[in-house]
Amino acid sequence: MTDTMQTPSGENQNSAGTPAAKPTSLTITDKAVNEIKRIQANDPSAVGTNLRVMVVGGGCSGMSYKLGFDGQPIAASDKIFEKDGVKVVCDAKSYLYLAGTELDFTDGLNGTGFVFKNPMRSEPVVAVPASQLNGCVHCGAHLSGELAPHACGQCGTPQPLVPGSLRDPFEVFQVARRFGQSRGELQKRFLLLSRALHPDRFARASEVARQASLERMGLVNEAFRILSDGDAIRDFLFSQSGFQEKGAQTSEDLELAERWFDLQEQIDEKGADEGLALLALFQGELTGLLTEMKLQMQRLEQSFDNQNEPKEALQEMFKVRHRMNTSQSMLRDVERMRFRLESAGKVHP
Ligand SMILES: [Zn+2]
Repeated sequence: MTDTMQTPSGENQNSAGTPAAKPTSLTITDKAVNEIKRIQANDPSAVGTNLRVMVVGGGCSGMSYKLGFDGQPIAASDKIFEKDGVKVVCDAKSYLYLAGTELDFTDGLNGTGFVFKNPMRSEPVVAVPASQLNGCVHCGAHLSGELAPHACGQCGTPQPLVPGSLRDPFEVFQVARRFGQSRGELQKRFLLLSRALHPDRFARASEVARQASLERMGLVNEAFRILSDGDAIRDFLFSQSGFQEKGAQTSEDLELAERWFDLQEQIDEKGADEGLALLALFQGELTGLLTEMKLQMQRLEQSFDNQNEPKEALQEMFKVRHRMNTSQSMLRDVERMRFRLESAGKVHP
């Protein structure tokens, strides 16, 4: 199988007309809209997704167009083209090549597929058969198996990343969203992907493959780091959740801050000796609180993993982490004050 199909260049002349102002948009023909709707109607996994167009390459081998339905959120830098309720999305870099292009669908004698026509460019018209949607950029094979979606199981080509796409470590490793990850399984998959994507293997490959292997390898390294560390998993889930630090403050936090404030006043009044005793008590209390919160965090992680109201568990974790941070910084303040009082004690024995 080849990467793309070419239709006779004669078709390119269809859209030739009076040289108007430089076109800046991707136009979608009725035939393309109908085909996109037909595929979405027949493929349950394509419902509610957008058709994403990616242009990779350039250079001597020409450009390669990749088309696929994706459920990724649309990035702020993405360009969106809409017609009759059908959305076609592309990243900003691909848009540089797509501006002025017409996306059509052909089912003529020369093959069936989506066709990109650009009257301003001399590049051949390329068509992507519907069967190759979401396929390998090099051979068109359906991406499945243990290397998917990072590299093609058929030809081994690493697949380019959509710029700005969500880098979700769980998706990178194709594992469930949970804290408890099997270390052995992670390591096995990490080794497999590292071998398949290693940039050395693509030193003499095309620019696209080299770039893709570097990006994919970076993605896999980062995902492995996150999934191997419970704190990093938590931070990743928080970063996705949209929780606000402001909303994390509870009445317990305020109460604790107030007590620390009162304690400092008391110590000022009562002097170093009594102050040190009060500080030691408070320090013990804070340490106990931190231990308790660590246990609470573990319980919440289990609750999240058991899918027992995971959203609520995550929200609660966010509050607990906030309180842990507050308590830890308070503990540092206590430590500093104790040092000050102890030094003061030495001056006045
Ligand atoms: Zn392939």
